[in-house]
Amino acid sequence: MSESVASALPEGVPQGGDVGHRVRCLVVMGTRPEAIKMLPVVQALKASELLCPFVVNTGQHADLVLPILHAAGIEPDVDLQIGRERNTINGLVRDCVGAFDDLLTDLRGGPERRNRPRLFGAAEHPGSPYPALTLVHGDTTSAMAAAMASIGCKLPVVHVEAGLRTRDILSPFPEELNRQLISRMAAFHLAPTPANQANLIREGVDPQRVFVTGNTGIDALHWAAGLHAAWPDDRLAALDDPAVPVLVVTAHRRENLGEPIRRIATAVGQIARQRPDVVVVWPVHPNPVVRKDVYAILGAVPNVILTHPIDYIPFARLLERATLVISDSGGVQEEAPSVGTPVLVAREESERPEGVEAGALVLVGSDTERIRDIALTLLADPAARAQMTSVVNPFGDGHAAERVCTALEHLVFDTPAPERYGAAFSRSRVLEASGYDPREIAITSRKIAAAHPDLPQGSGASRKLAALRR
Ligand code: UDP
Repeated sequence: MSESVASALPEGVPQGGDVGHRVRCLVVMGTRPEAIKMLPVVQALKASELLCPFVVNTGQHADLVLPILHAAGIEPDVDLQIGRERNTINGLVRDCVGAFDDLLTDLRGGPERRNRPRLFGAAEHPGSPYPALTLVHGDTTSAMAAAMASIGCKLPVVHVEAGLRTRDILSPFPEELNRQLISRMAAFHLAPTPANQANLIREGVDPQRVFVTGNTGIDALHWAAGLHAAWPDDRLAALDDPAVPVLVVTAHRRENLGEPIRRIATAVGQIARQRPDVVVVWPVHPNPVVRKDVYAILGAVPNVILTHPIDYIPFARLLERATLVISDSGGVQEEAPSVGTPVLVAREESERPEGVEAGALVLVGSDTERIRDIALTLLADPAARAQMTSVVNPFGDGHAAERVCTALEHLVFDTPAPERYGAAFSRSRVLEASGYDPREIAITSRKIAAAHPDLPQGSGASRKLAALRR
């Protein structure tokens, strides 16, 4: 093993034969959303009798990633330490490809063994430290670079959370470009939803290489919310009174910096003043531009609690406790509906149209009046909120990581294949082809859900619906 990587390995990390006959899968992560959404996959691989995870922390958000992993009892097997502050996108690609190439060369046993064994070498040679495949997640530059380095060594790339699209490679940048590039490199695409699968097929990806799993972020959220973490700030004790309505706000996306965030904050201030009984919790992003605007507009409003970003595990509890969320985050859009909390999405477009279609999300952009009016209506109307979340959660059922693991076992060892998540066809597409308008479908679906409360529905949503009805 080269000195660079060997020195980065924590002591006692299995370096080869002691993984038994289980085959390694590299699991790459470096940012907070990657750690959250890969965590259930790592846990499922740990529980597998055939496969085991080899966790590669690329190092961009070490302070945010490690606490999440440690809470789940996971220690990265290697830390590439490439998260230098103020690194450029190109610098990150260069550093990540280089560090990954060193790692793969080490695991292979030196450069002279570069061309053997190739695919599934580890499965053919039990006990070999060389991995069978590399799992990358989503849309980060490090995931794209890790995919590039893996394919450069002819190691198959498996893309978790594949198929999200805005179709504009400059928005969001560089995430949309990264997603599309990873799709070109991946051998196997694990799509959270049938709509994500459809995006890939539209781009010419062989449908036989796409598998719909549900989103692993939902698995993580159920796990985290179930830990019932203590509130990280004394002021949040107010949330322990179940009669208090709670509005949670997060906003930090690049396209919202400046005027849009000021408009969102102004709406939040108007809501808080009109509803003094509501407690607003806004974990403010560390970006100084965001902090300055949010504190200037909301710092003196008595029922608005501005905090530092909250650790993921208490944040999951906060989402479950919330009555309503306003957010521009991608992850939060998926997570909140899974615990029965509707979301006003402070963005002009979303790469998660399933949630808008299902009615759990409403796109509100950064329009002050629109945000204020819709939020006040929903805060005052439990039935309207219940309608938003009473449909089956389109993003997942909390078992995505099991499907990922079973799919990988099938891939490497030809064990039985897993069942996909969700229907193999799209109900809304069929109804649209039958002449229904998408809005009509959403309204009708909600009426049907309300008229047939005993029909099986999304787990978190139905729990909250039942609570609202009590
Ligand atoms: N999150 C968190 N604490 C907070 C705000 C968000 O743990 O104070 C979590 C949230 O649950 C979600 C993830 O961070 O899983 C979202 O990260 P971010 O908004 O940075 O990225 P995006 O989802 O937009 O890619």
